[in-house]
Amino acid sequence: MSNEDFRVISLLTCWLLTISGPSSSLAQEPSDPTLPVSLDVDLQSANLSSADRERSPLIAIDPGHGGREPGAVHRQANGRVDLLEKDVNLEIALRLDALLRDHGFRTALTRADDSDVNVPPSDRNGDGRIDNDDDLQARVDIANAAGAALLFSIHNNGSTSPSVRGTSTWYSIDHPSGAESLRLAALVQTSLLSHLRDIGYLQAVNAGFHDDAGLGKPFGHLFLVGPQTPRVARVSQMPGVVGESLYITSDREAELLKNTDVLNAIAEAYFEAAVEFLTG
Ligand SMILES: [Zn+2]
Repeated sequence: MSNEDFRVISLLTCWLLTISGPSSSLAQEPSDPTLPVSLDVDLQSANLSSADRERSPLIAIDPGHGGREPGAVHRQANGRVDLLEKDVNLEIALRLDALLRDHGFRTALTRADDSDVNVPPSDRNGDGRIDNDDDLQARVDIANAAGAALLFSIHNNGSTSPSVRGTSTWYSIDHPSGAESLRLAALVQTSLLSHLRDIGYLQAVNAGFHDDAGLGKPFGHLFLVGPQTPRVARVSQMPGVVGESLYITSDREAELLKNTDVLNAIAEAYFEAAVEFLTG
């Protein structure tokens, strides 16, 4: 083990100890008094120098969809759309970003507002046209340029059947870091379920963590966490998962996703999975 390795492990151990320690005082964002309450860490108590912070792991956070791409939508009985997946994904991502930074991690968000990522529009994957794949390539490029240690693509699910509920996590075993992505997916799935149940959603449905081969995606794989395919000019260079925390199209789960406590719980679930992944 090099000194550098030891230093990183010491930092992570420090984070882990403080995270699992007593939760008497709350690390709250002044801008959001509803931020989660179970984590008792701040940079002073963790005693991180700015040099330490520069060496801390970097987590790429991708709020799925955005701008022209709403993702799944929830409709009221009268047909009016009252919830867009892109907005929920961003809410969760911003909370996760704040949690990670509060605990000394570095982050890279692929978007921080309701916008396309491929701006100005360009043919990023070089296939001769500008489409949503270029927006996905732009997200991969951001994570790669940041040197991320792992990638969370934050989504919520949709179905034509409003009765479908559930929580699932997706990885690609064919990705160059597929084995690590599988390990991350297992951690995310377990963490999402336990946080949703802890906050009172006892009927949360465990839809499992799965390889992306069964999704029927073009060339058999998700773009962000999958391997090289004709769609992908530059593959993501870190382990990654797509998390589908709840179903936007379910009346019950859409209602949950309007609740800031639930959004905070989902963000905490990703946060704790990241810490476990980096320290495990
Ligand atoms: Zn989505």
